[in-house]
Amino acid sequence: MTNEYQIRVVPEVAAQEDRLKGWIADEYGFDVRTIYGVRILKRSIDARQRQIFVNLKVRVYVNEQPHDDEYVHTEYPNVEGKPQVIVVGAGPGGLFAALRLIELGLRPIVLERGKNVHDRKKDLANITKTQKVDSESNYCFGEGGAGAYSDGKLYTRSKKRGNTDKILNVFCQHGASTAILADAHPHIGTDRLPKVIEAMRNTIISCGGEVHFQTKMTQLVLEGDKVVGCIADKEYRGPVILATGHSARDVYRYLVEAKVDVEAKGIAVGVRLEHPSHLIDQIQYHSKQGRGKYLPAAEYSMVTQVDGRGVYSFCMCPGGFVIPAATDKEQIVVNGMSPASRGTAWSNSGMVVEVRPEDLSTINSPLKVLRFQEELEKMCWQQGNMKQTAPAQRMMDFVNGKLSYDLPKSSYAPGLISSPLHFWLPEMISKRLREGFKVFGRNAHGFMTNEAVMIAIETRTSSPVRIVRDSETLQHIRVKGLFPCGEGAGYAGGIVSAGVDGERCAEMCARYLNS
Ligand SMILES: Cc1cc2nc3c(=O)[nH]c(=O)nc-3n(C[C@H](O)[C@H](O)[C@H](O)COP(=O)(O)OP(=O)(O)OC[C@H]3O[C@@H](n4cnc5c(N)ncnc54)[C@H](O)[C@@H]3O)c2cc1C
Repeated sequence: MTNEYQIRVVPEVAAQEDRLKGWIADEYGFDVRTIYGVRILKRSIDARQRQIFVNLKVRVYVNEQPHDDEYVHTEYPNVEGKPQVIVVGAGPGGLFAALRLIELGLRPIVLERGKNVHDRKKDLANITKTQKVDSESNYCFGEGGAGAYSDGKLYTRSKKRGNTDKILNVFCQHGASTAILADAHPHIGTDRLPKVIEAMRNTIISCGGEVHFQTKMTQLVLEGDKVVGCIADKEYRGPVILATGHSARDVYRYLVEAKVDVEAKGIAVGVRLEHPSHLIDQIQYHSKQGRGKYLPAAEYSMVTQVDGRGVYSFCMCPGGFVIPAATDKEQIVVNGMSPASRGTAWSNSGMVVEVRPEDLSTINSPLKVLRFQEELEKMCWQQGNMKQTAPAQRMMDFVNGKLSYDLPKSSYAPGLISSPLHFWLPEMISKRLREGFKVFGRNAHGFMTNEAVMIAIETRTSSPVRIVRDSETLQHIRVKGLFPCGEGAGYAGGIVSAGVDGERCAEMCARYLNS
């Protein structure tokens, strides 16, 4: 017999199977020896009160062994000899597009400018060692895209756009822990993602698809208003799913030049804010002892409005690292990630201010937000001594408009340099950040502190450009056979939503080929 229950237990019960079995036996009147297994179907932490609870939906196996599959398995048929589709970019958008094409009986040819996920790792380590960024292999470019060495948080607010559960199940089929199906805020962890991505590539290849690394698309092949292929190391023929991410600035520039319509899109700009993780645990779990043995590193989410623009925390990484995410020389860009254990001594988050195209200038250029990003990233690099050492300032010093005399220890491996961010960040950003911090400090006692350090600059929060597409067919608004996909097209933000968009583009591409 199996029964499902919605229960609310203290963290030490939720974390230990024996305690959980005992609790369920007492609560529902079973002999504990008859409970053969307990599967957690949903898990969320309720930290609103001093006593923390964990809400669980559980399936209890009484007098029978757990037998059902832990995830929904997808069949991938052999697609050798089937019509081919070119997928440009092997980030989550491109990889999920490729897998869905296979399900639909089409043969994906994936072109990726960067290296495979394993070789890429060395180039990431080199950023700290040499203080230089390889413009083709970095935190944004290479197999797995920006998603590979990301934090691997898998929650998305956009459940409307497609089947997010399918994305999580496909990750499980490729080696991710099935805990991601239960957790309210699922997280794979940067240390576990590469193996999952490698397994996805192996599925594509074993079904007859192709994956080419260090193969950069430089042009589309256009016949009138129709894309029939693209040029990389050679010409590849087929409709094109363009999933090149938000950092492929050369792709945006090429599209403008080739008169493939794009438009400027708003982004958010700010800094990474890093606190000691024990401080965030103390604040969020309302306890001087912090998280204790049974709770994960605490998360937070903060949002306010200042002068008509949103100021908010972005991509929070409890127990994580701040990392150098630039894609070219003479830039500094920061971002965050965390390992599966979320066990480092720091918790960081983007603290960003909404920037709209109309905030920048009256010039109506589709690349104006992109240029704004570039200027800030270059300025930051200059402030950082023309290396990857990032300009930084203690949080209270920033609010009080004073240079930090020294800086706290940080997870940012290339190093920090004290800099008056209050002085050189654009006023529309610094003023709103300052006011936003005051609000966050009032709402979460202890959050505004000089133990926290702001690290500049966070600019790659989303795409600065939208590649305009038809909302029904997902093809470019004018050019047929071109499917702008994922974050770089301006239609996704995050791993799961890029994956969902990849699947949808594959489906529309199949419909296009069948019409
Ligand atoms: C450090 C970091 C942490 C993050 N943490 C999270 C997180 O925890 N959760 C979350 O949901 N999101 C996170 N993100 C964001 C997430 O990674 C992106 O939203 C997601 O990867 C977007 O997917 P995509 O496939 O659209 O684009 P991308 O992942 O950017 O992939 C685009 C790919 O296209 C390739 N490419 C570009 N131009 C060309 C070309 N001309 N020819 C061939 N290939 C090309 C690139 O090399 C890249 O591999 C993080 C990002 C970073 C950088």
